[in-house]
This record gives sequence, C-alpha cells and structure tokens, in this order.
Amino acid sequence: MKKNDFLLIGLVLLIAVSVMGYHYLKKDTGPGKVVIRVDGETYGTYDLSEEQTIDIQGTNILEIHNGEARMSEADCPDRLCVHQKAISRDGESIICLPNKIVVSVEGGEDNEIDAVAN
Ligand SMILES: [Zn+2]
Repeated sequence: MKKNDFLLIGLVLLIAVSVMGYHYLKKDTGPGKVVIRVDGETYGTYDLSEEQTIDIQGTNILEIHNGEARMSEADCPDRLCVHQKAISRDGESIICLPNKIVVSVEGGEDNEIDAVAN
C-alpha cells in the first residue's frame, strides 16, 4: 500500500517535471515570430528562424538574420527605427513613428488568437 503511494507521487512528480521541462524547452528553443503592424493593422507575421528581407509597403525594410529582426532601411526623416537594436525576444519591439510601423516579437502561442481575431 505504502509502496504504491510512493509510486503514485513519483509518477505525478515525473509528469509535472516533464510538463515544465516541455514548456521551458519550447520557450527556449523555439524562436518567436515577428509581427509587423502598420497603423494598428497587422501587416504580416514572419518567422524569426527564417532568414528573410521584408519590404514594408515600400517605406521600410526589415531584415531577419540569425534569429534577430532589425530595420535595415527606412525613408522616415528621423531614422530612429534604423538605429534601434535588433530584436529577438518576446515583447521587444521596433517602432517607426513617422510611418506608423510597429514591429514586435511575439511568442508562438498567442499568435493563433491574433490571427483569428484579425
Ligand atoms: Zn523610422
């Protein structure tokens, strides 16, 4: 009887640890996505794991390289967005105020909800 209790506790602990480990690994290894919004509307969602260059309506160019996204070109007068650091972590963003462009990194799971809402 007691032995079974221990087994049960052990099993529960094992499941708890593997679930935590799964979430941890998923968060750590899976690169997020870059969401580009223009004037509050979603312009596109792009994978950070894919090397690519994205033309944002002819005014800005976003480059994804080595799992990081940065604004490589912009026709805005201040060019603040071009000088912002490359982003790669959930919640980081690059904003181009004159062109009303917001580029932000988002984790994988919430994007689905966003996609449905849009
Ligand atoms: Zn700008």
